Amino acid sequence: MSKQQILIVEDEQEIAALIALQLERHGYTPIQAHDGKATFERLTELVPDLILLDLMLPDISGLDICKKLKEDDATKNIPIIIVSALSEESDVVIGLELGASDYVPKPFSTKILLARIRAVLRREAQPESTNNKMSIGEIIMDENRHEVLCKGVPLQLTPTEYGILFFLMSRPGFVRTRDQITQSLHGHSASLVGRTIDVHVNSLRRKLGECADMIETVRGVGYRIVKPHSEEPRG
Ligand code: CA
Repeated sequence: MSKQQILIVEDEQEIAALIALQLERHGYTPIQAHDGKATFERLTELVPDLILLDLMLPDISGLDICKKLKEDDATKNIPIIIVSALSEESDVVIGLELGASDYVPKPFSTKILLARIRAVLRREAQPESTNNKMSIGEIIMDENRHEVLCKGVPLQLTPTEYGILFFLMSRPGFVRTRDQITQSLHGHSASLVGRTIDVHVNSLRRKLGECADMIETVRGVGYRIVKPHSEEPRG
């Protein structure tokens, strides 16, 4: 199998070089672009398997790059992970809504960045469930029976709670913004009047009991569901 190519869009060259070194060590082929112009030039030469995208760039903003790539048939299927400072949270939300797959905050640990890269590459390549059953950790969701089991015990969820859990579980480990969650609920829930997503998530967590920690709050951005930490992939 040929090495997967990852395009690193990052104007801070030391950070770009550091990421490139780690990617090489882990069997990927890194390509660097230090501004928007170079990014589009690289993309005329090759189609990378994944793009790591910084948002603050000297010429074009990372968000504009994300938007352009997702609008273009030639590039819209390349998964994008936004790698960005916490101060840019609102931009991260926009980026995810424009179609970025995930978000890793700076400063990042290499271990987390690599885990997210592996998850995105795996996720984009494979279907997410079999037999309309999804499971993560001790939570099993059976769409046919409209049933959720946590440690073998069925949970009594409201349609909204069910919808939120379904949406998060359909892409485990990936951040979903509040707007994305709300939009996904059409068809599951008649209205969210007067109650925010946060209220429903908190209620869902209470019902999940020991599994509550699996729904993580990503500060300023949204929520994601993760495996219990002991089950996180290693290496
Ligand atoms: Ca930057």
